[in-house]
Amino acid sequence: MNQMNYQKELEKILEALSLKGTQDNVEHVPTLFLHSCCAPCSSYCLEYLCKYFAITVFYYNPNISASEEYQRRVAEQKRLIAAYNEEAKGYPIGIVEGDYEPARFYETVKGYEACREGGERCFRCFSLRLRETAERARISGYDYFATTLTISPLKNAQKINEIGQEIAKEVGVAWLPSDFKKKNGYKRSVELSTQYELYRQDYCGCAFSKAEREREKQAAIPAKI
Ligand code: SF4
Repeated sequence: MNQMNYQKELEKILEALSLKGTQDNVEHVPTLFLHSCCAPCSSYCLEYLCKYFAITVFYYNPNISASEEYQRRVAEQKRLIAAYNEEAKGYPIGIVEGDYEPARFYETVKGYEACREGGERCFRCFSLRLRETAERARISGYDYFATTLTISPLKNAQKINEIGQEIAKEVGVAWLPSDFKKKNGYKRSVELSTQYELYRQDYCGCAFSKAEREREKQAAIPAKI
């Protein structure tokens, strides 16, 4: 099956929005409810999209283990947004924090705990977070919803977009497609993370990914004789 270029799809939408903006007499800034997994991943996405949308970041990540890690990541997210707003990088950016409900995550991935990162467990995790984002976006009347998750080279952007499109149909809010890692997006997020001294975790978020990363680190250490 042919892979879609979701960066190109995003560019088409941005171009159409820019054109509409110059044609309309009354300015309507499109609104975007943007699910964010963490400050480093959102750094480039926000810099890129805040020129086109009035963005509200939705921090909904019940997958993160443990509570201290969750608190640390959300604090970094708020710090980054405050810095961007201070610099007036584009339209002002808001933030809504979702509920931290790890029990819901564990219920969602029940039976798939042992999957490797990138497998079915992750697809369920994406669905949980994107569905909550779409439902909140619909209730609050946003024009689009999207996620920063596609910036990660470790995540399957095709699958994330397919899930987003499916949920968009069911919930009735437009999905903003993306593949943010393209056009040096991931590289730029690393630069911005350094510039703003953001905390960059070395595992995705859940307890299973943390354990997997620990095993990888152990395997990389040469055995002591
Ligand atoms: S590895 Fe990441 S995407 Fe996959 S289930 Fe864990 S937190 Fe979710």
